[in-house]
Amino acid sequence: MLKLVEKPSLSNKMRISVDHGKLENFSQSHVRFYLKYSSFVFRALKKPSFQKFLHWMLKKERIKEQAVRAVHVKVLPLRRKNGNGIAGNCDATLGRIRIYPKTVKFCQIFKQKFGRNTLLVYAGNRARAALIHELLHLKYIQDEKTVRELAKDYFCIFTQKQSAPSSHALCIYTMIFAAKSVERKVPPGVSDDPRIITKLNETCLRASGVLK
Ligand SMILES: [Zn+2]
Repeated sequence: MLKLVEKPSLSNKMRISVDHGKLENFSQSHVRFYLKYSSFVFRALKKPSFQKFLHWMLKKERIKEQAVRAVHVKVLPLRRKNGNGIAGNCDATLGRIRIYPKTVKFCQIFKQKFGRNTLLVYAGNRARAALIHELLHLKYIQDEKTVRELAKDYFCIFTQKQSAPSSHALCIYTMIFAAKSVERKVPPGVSDDPRIITKLNETCLRASGVLK
């Protein structure tokens, strides 16, 4: 039988989502910042090259695209009780994934140190790494270790396919995963927030020629 309706792709299930009740906790300028951040991340995640990669990854992992009901790019950041930020989480039962931004404060410091362009590269790749991680949780629900290992590998495959100079891709790879080598206990379904190890990144960024 002919398929008249194309299967909904992951890209069509993505949307920007804001908790209106929480908006009042933020100043107008911060809200503007987070709206811009979320729309940037939304576009980064919807880029055809990345969507194509995700399609390939899901197929390889035998995760059905139908298992993903919704991907919410959250406008406002979320913090754990210990103060650490959350990059994303996955409700495997509902098939719902959420991707969270870094805070205004973090972005300001990062921008001062590395410049606006590097911040954009970082924010886009952090969101991509988070989405890869959370998609893998649809299959490896409780297995944080496997998800982390696979997410690293897949992110690496994606960055290597991009046209960016390899040293830069490697640098971003280091930035995203540097903090993840430390084993920490986190609840399943919640990905750890990749923290910046400034010293390491400065060296890395200089080496890649981003900072001049
Ligand atoms: Zn996880």
